[in-house]
This record gives sequence, structure tokens and C-alpha cells, in this order.
Amino acid sequence: MVIWGMQFSPSESEVPELDRALDELKRLAKELTGRLGFRASFSRVLAVLSDYPCMARCLIELKPGPREPVDQYYLERHEFVRKLLLDALRLRLLEEGFKVSLKAENRDECGKGDIDLEYTHLGVTVSVNSFRIRVEVKGGVRFPIAQLLRYLLDVDAVVLCLAGRGEAVTLTRNDAKQLIELLLRTITAKLKLLIEGDEARIPGPWCHGCPLECQYAKPLTNHRPDLDCEFVATLKNWRRAIEQTVEHVIDLLKRVKKAPEAYISSCSDEVN
Ligand code: SF4
Repeated sequence: MVIWGMQFSPSESEVPELDRALDELKRLAKELTGRLGFRASFSRVLAVLSDYPCMARCLIELKPGPREPVDQYYLERHEFVRKLLLDALRLRLLEEGFKVSLKAENRDECGKGDIDLEYTHLGVTVSVNSFRIRVEVKGGVRFPIAQLLRYLLDVDAVVLCLAGRGEAVTLTRNDAKQLIELLLRTITAKLKLLIEGDEARIPGPWCHGCPLECQYAKPLTNHRPDLDCEFVATLKNWRRAIEQTVEHVIDLLKRVKKAPEAYISSCSDEVN
């Protein structure tokens, strides 16, 4: 996988450096799961190590086993917003004349997106093969920063549809370049520590729902939704979030289509 694709014109030295960082991570992830005697996908390793500061919790979360149940309402809300957004996106893309492939639940190397778009008709004057966008839907008010950074290892830009807030926001890989580098470095160091046998217990808010026998373990907080607050009161925001998300995607595609080189250089300037 090319981490820093041609889309944002990375300097020659950056490409191998970042590719190397990811290759090293994959090697370490394989070594750890091999030693522990179970299989875990690379995306799972990235997610667990970026979500839990506690090393003991990281180990238990990497092991196969039942995951905490999600309330049916949250699942339905997510599915409803995603399907409506997917339909709205496709209709608008057709209207605008964009030939874009759309996939839902596309499992990529570093994560599985709600909706993935790949734009492959960028003209012949630039050395660009495709531009990839991932749309992530959050039905509530959660703002999943680590997840977005991980997604930016797979795609060029992420558009977050915040249904509960009635908003959308776009993050490109170059916007987050420095943080992604730090995240990769941190996960690499944590993987090495886990391989060396570090099982340090570091208590914090993540102790809720921890399956380990530990003095800090706390029960899961009640996920039963308050339907008046989380459904009725937020319904009015959903349409706005969907419409804004569609606008963000179309705006990105228009900018890339219209002046890929200008867009590329403006992104690169922020980085270099
Ligand atoms: S309860 Fe907290 S400190 Fe204890 S193992 Fe679990 S996450 Fe770590």
C-alpha cells in the first residue's frame, strides 16, 4: 500500500519513510500475535493500540472474544443515516456527472469505512490515478479522532457526517500528517513493549467494561438510549448532516477535478 499517494505530491523521501513505518508496524503486529498464538487483523491492532493506553487492556482486546453488545437503536440509527446518505450521494454524483465507485463497509488494510468513494477520472495531464474519500457516519455526538487518523492511512480524505450535531467536516491526509506520524511512532513503540512482555496496568476512563480482573475495572456505563433526547430531539439534525456531507464530498471532487495540481500544491505547502 502506498501511504502517501501521488494525490498530495509527497516529497520523494517521505514516501519510503512512511511506507517503511507501516511495514515495520505490520511486521511487529504479526510477531506479537504469533507469539501470543492468535490472529488479529492489522486494522484491529491499529485500533486497539490507539484506543487504549493500558497495556493489559490492549492485550485482552487483541484476543478473539465476544465484543460488547451495541443497542439496536444505535445500529438502526447508523444504518438509516448511512443508507440515506449513500442514496443522496449517488444521486448528486450522477447529477454532477462524476463517475465514482461507491462501496459500503469496504474493508481496507487499516479500517472498514462506512462509505468509500474512488474517483478515477482525473485526466491525463497529472500523474494521478485515483482520489479516495471515506465517509464516516456518527449518529451521536462522538468525534472519533483516532479512527479518522487511521482511515487516512487508507484514503486521501475523510468526510465525517455528524448526524447528532447536524454537521459535516472534511479532513485530508495532509491536514493530519504530523499527527499520523506521531500516532504510528507511538503504536510502533507500544507494540515493541507488548512483545517484550509489558503488561502495565494504566487506569483511566477506559477501565469501563474491562473484562480483566483488576482493581480498577468498572462496569460498562448504561448504553440504553434516551429516545427523547437521542432520537426525537436530534432528528432535525440528520438531514442537515447528510446534506452537508454530500456538499463536502462534491466540493472535494470538484476541486480535484478542476485543478488537481493547484489543489495538490496547496495541500503540500501545508506540510512542507
Ligand atoms: S481495569 Fe483499567 S487498569 Fe485494569 S486492566 Fe483494565 S483498563 Fe487496565
